[in-house]
Amino acid sequence: MAEYCSQCRPFEKSFDIDLFQIALKLERDYSTSFLCERCNNRAIYKDEQGLIYLVRFERNDYNYYPVNIEDLIKLKPSGSYLKGNFDFNIKKS
Ligand SMILES: [Zn+2]
Repeated sequence: MAEYCSQCRPFEKSFDIDLFQIALKLERDYSTSFLCERCNNRAIYKDEQGLIYLVRFERNDYNYYPVNIEDLIKLKPSGSYLKGNFDFNIKKS
């Protein structure tokens, strides 16, 4: 059965991988990886300072995007990832 993250949420309120809950439960210096079948999101990582990163697999590489945990709640279901955009502000480190 296909699994989708809460950023994709193709069936509105139905999703399998809750990015916010994952980030909430993470301890510092740990990451949780998952496989969303619809987008490039691959893991959530929390660094030693408690900063949270969304890890995406792009161009054969893992890229870390700093995110606010609040942004993970506000993620809206949309197809915007198809255009390469995000639903929240990210800064490439
Ligand atoms: Zn996804």
